[in-house]
Amino acid sequence: MNDWVKARVVGKHRWTEGLYSLQFEAPITDFVAGQYIKVALDIEGERVGRPYSLVNAPGAQPIEIFFNEVPQGPLTPPLSALSPGDTVWLTATASGIFTLETVQPARDLWLLATGTGLGVYLSILRSPDPWRLFERVVLVHGVRQGADLAYSETLDEIAGRYPGRFTRVAAVSRESWPTALSGRITDLLTGGELERHVGLTIDPATSHVMLCGNSAMIKDAKVILEARGLVRHRRQTPGHYTTEQYH
Ligand SMILES: Cc1cc2nc3c(=O)[nH]c(=O)nc-3n(C[C@H](O)[C@H](O)[C@H](O)COP(=O)(O)OP(=O)(O)OC[C@H]3O[C@@H](n4cnc5c(N)ncnc54)[C@H](O)[C@@H]3O)c2cc1C
Repeated sequence: MNDWVKARVVGKHRWTEGLYSLQFEAPITDFVAGQYIKVALDIEGERVGRPYSLVNAPGAQPIEIFFNEVPQGPLTPPLSALSPGDTVWLTATASGIFTLETVQPARDLWLLATGTGLGVYLSILRSPDPWRLFERVVLVHGVRQGADLAYSETLDEIAGRYPGRFTRVAAVSRESWPTALSGRITDLLTGGELERHVGLTIDPATSHVMLCGNSAMIKDAKVILEARGLVRHRRQTPGHYTTEQYH
């Protein structure tokens, strides 16, 4: 059983309407980049908890999550209303296997995210794992509006730490945005525009791909990747892509 621990909100950032990061002071240090914890509030006498990927690096404080408000959801509206000093419940132990722990080293690591799926990759990129296992790391963040492109300063800082090894691509689907490709990640993959832009090809011989975010992107991306010969990675049978579906 995973025990609940009480945590204090120590930071809050509103990126745009309905898009937030929350930071907590909590005794959670021992996790693998890519894992999640549950965050809960007691609502009308019931503890309502949902999983959230950790954004901070293992061992780093504060604990941080990145989420969007789902207006009809039970947890995210009250979660968005929290302020520093408020308290929440967190699971004491992180879970999940969307990590690089059992992945075979390859030349290129592709990290594809829609929306708040970016958060899990920030923890991975802040850890030594991708830089130990791969020569090149490509992060692709797909959003609807340019204003949803959060954490650009953090990504600039990571890019500065690994010159020539880190490529970030923004894909904006519902408006034209100066620094971004136009369209959904899966359409940019199908048409080859994404790989032409990066200058690398996704290939089972050289690539491992991680997919995180909404179910439509993951479902469509799987079909595209499997048509190119990539197979799902499992602990027992190493493959070329892994997935984490948020909704
Ligand atoms: C392993 C795992 C890790 C996750 N990590 C994150 C994370 O880091 N950040 C994050 O924002 N979410 C994450 N989620 C989703 C999160 O757990 C919640 O489902 C979400 O925040 C909505 O919570 P809720 O209680 O308000 O609504 P819920 O009762 O959870 O969902 C209500 C409805 O909204 C849909 N929905 C859920 N999430 C979204 C969304 N982001 N956008 C639009 N519709 C949605 C659900 O499919 C459902 O139909 C993760 C989910 C899983 C399984």
